[in-house]
Amino acid sequence: MSVIKEVEVIPLRIPFVRPFKLSRGYVGRPGQPGEHIYVKLVTSDGEVGWGEARPMHTWMYETMESVYTSIKRYLAPILIGKEPYDLSRIHEEMDKVLTPVVSSGQPFAKSAVDIALHDLIGKLVGLPLHRLIGGKTRDYVEMSALISGDPESISEYAREMLRKGFRCFKLKIMGDVDEDCKCIRALRDSIGDGGQIWLDANQAYSSLRLAWLLKEIKDVGNIICIEQPVPTTDFHGLRRIARMSPIPIAVDESLFSHYDLLKLITMEALDALVLKVAKSGIRNSLKIYYLAEAGGIDCLGSGMTESGVGFTASIHLYSVVKMVAPVDTNGPQFLSDLLVRGIEIEGPRVKVPDKPGLGIKVDESKIEEYRVTLEI
Ligand SMILES: [Mg+2]
Repeated sequence: MSVIKEVEVIPLRIPFVRPFKLSRGYVGRPGQPGEHIYVKLVTSDGEVGWGEARPMHTWMYETMESVYTSIKRYLAPILIGKEPYDLSRIHEEMDKVLTPVVSSGQPFAKSAVDIALHDLIGKLVGLPLHRLIGGKTRDYVEMSALISGDPESISEYAREMLRKGFRCFKLKIMGDVDEDCKCIRALRDSIGDGGQIWLDANQAYSSLRLAWLLKEIKDVGNIICIEQPVPTTDFHGLRRIARMSPIPIAVDESLFSHYDLLKLITMEALDALVLKVAKSGIRNSLKIYYLAEAGGIDCLGSGMTESGVGFTASIHLYSVVKMVAPVDTNGPQFLSDLLVRGIEIEGPRVKVPDKPGLGIKVDESKIEEYRVTLEI
């Protein structure tokens, strides 16, 4: 019997090669590295499973310190002595010790553990992660390009990514109608009719100001959705927007679990949702996905500038479930290093790994290079 005997929690800071700004500020830029937590599970027979959290406290309440202590002090003791196959029991116990009262109860920490367990299970049974959750429906997952900045830098970067073969462009908008219009038009002019535009406001608008924006951009024909226009607390604003907007409305920060989705479906407050392994892990993403299917809600896939572990877990999930647009798994665009070997990326296409578990090899010398000590 293969049981978990060691849980290592590793805080890392990985440099950014280009700035990434959203409406709530920078999540990383050159000189301001991204914060990551790697989880390493070791079994009694020496197998290793890897997970990753990418805490981003300006986006969601978990910090690098809280993810570290949540896993080390509260989740790790649950894992010790258990078989990785005991996913249901482990999740039940994780929800008992970190109660899902607000959101899913430290979801980033739990997601890192969930990824590591899936990696382990795959390695133990000799199957790639995607086959554990239904099997891939395609060999490659197509990515979109994530863009933020001023109109000039948006144009320049959009053209560069268009040349590389990207056809969907996710633009961060900041909540200022005039400035956002300039950015949207700069992107539209750079990519022409051929590219899709996916807008993400990260909670920056109210329903009134979004109505003003919609009026200004009504001639821009290739916008596939506006993601998370209003604050997570504004469910009624979201519903008003979904009812009046000619552009479909997607939710991200308002939705971490299938419980959140049930509420949003009941309120008729969304047209699409954004899956993220970083916020829901593999197991809870699947729960969300199948409820969405029953509710007639389409899914988009996104990421949190994770490095190789979180990125690859996302690629496995997005190869199995239906996605309505190229996915926004943006780590490779922004990080100086993904810390793993075995990821094959060509332009916007990522090959779905077929080796057991995540199907990649974590470079432990890189872990040492980026490891930091937390003062707690
Ligand atoms: Mg988003």
